[in-house]
Amino acid sequence: MYEIDCPWCGLRDESEFHCTGEAHIIRPEDPYALDDAQWTDYLHHRSNPKGLHFEQWQHSSGCRKWFNVARDTVTYEIKAVYKVDEPKPAFLLTDDQSANQATVESSEVKA
Ligand SMILES: [Zn+2]
Repeated sequence: MYEIDCPWCGLRDESEFHCTGEAHIIRPEDPYALDDAQWTDYLHHRSNPKGLHFEQWQHSSGCRKWFNVARDTVTYEIKAVYKVDEPKPAFLLTDDQSANQATVESSEVKA
């Protein structure tokens, strides 16, 4: 057992939380423009890394709010906890990942 630092409630026992899957999945702007393979990829295909993983969690037995967790899937160590509308913490990203994130953020602004 370990504790998770809810952005609103502070440190609480992990039994109060649920992990609901990968974070930063962006819904396509026009789902009808996708073919079946692209729609299937959006709905079902998720990364399954050994190491750093960005996950969406809910404080289901507390404030019921959603937030993101950067967690090591090997050691279970939580590297960062941040709100859903915040970008991935820069200190965890490689230079390539930081560049990709900047591209995604700028395209979101244009939408
Ligand atoms: Zn909470």
